[in-house]
Amino acid sequence: MTDLVERSLAARLVMIGRQGSGKGEQCGRLAQRLQLDHVSTGELLRSAVRAGSTLGRTSEAYVVRGEPVPDHIVAGIVSARIAEAQAGGRGVVLDGFPRTVRQAERLSEMLAPASIDLAIHLDVPRATAVERIQNRRECPSCRTATSSVECPICRTHTERRADDWPAAIGRRMSDFAREMGPLLEWYAERGVLETVDGVGTPAQVAERVANAVDRRICASVRSR
Ligand code: ADP
Repeated sequence: MTDLVERSLAARLVMIGRQGSGKGEQCGRLAQRLQLDHVSTGELLRSAVRAGSTLGRTSEAYVVRGEPVPDHIVAGIVSARIAEAQAGGRGVVLDGFPRTVRQAERLSEMLAPASIDLAIHLDVPRATAVERIQNRRECPSCRTATSSVECPICRTHTERRADDWPAAIGRRMSDFAREMGPLLEWYAERGVLETVDGVGTPAQVAERVANAVDRRICASVRSR
């Protein structure tokens, strides 16, 4: 185990980025590198919808239309996943939550007296993000995100995500654009925001994310 991993074990990170910014990919890489639990609200909700659970049946209409699922539902899932990670002595990287200042306040109440160590803003221009979403596909079997029609991991035929249709994408992007400024400001005011350039290959961006974490997290986890 590297020194960084050891010091980051209980870290609490948030990744903020518009749809198509590569948030999911970068959270996955970061979680693997630092041995954190990757908590993706979108993925948790989609898998609940697929499983037909009570949570899935309640959330399905919102997810398919690209509308936000009510705060108390999303906060409930996140809180349960954070508790699970903490019980196992692991930290978390949150992907898709919080999206609004209200959700950030809720998260802060959930974590108190602890707090978020670092919020990473994955910065990608809207035009680039739209282009990425238009090419985005997902493997129905192993959930790998790809732009190819065949899954690079298990060779299954890939599909568009059910909520990646133009009206739903437009709605999600507009909602996000409206909420993102105040949310970033909220974390900046608390001194935990780092902006990372999200344009480049996944490996290049991962390197920048890793550098941001090295700069900020080590100091913060060490001083706890
Ligand atoms: P995207 O970032 O492309 O919108 P996600 O996978 O993060 O995709 O989320 C998919 C859907 O899940 C959202 O459109 C919304 O319905 C629901 N969702 C995810 N996170 C949240 C959240 N923090 N608050 C409310 N709804 C959420």
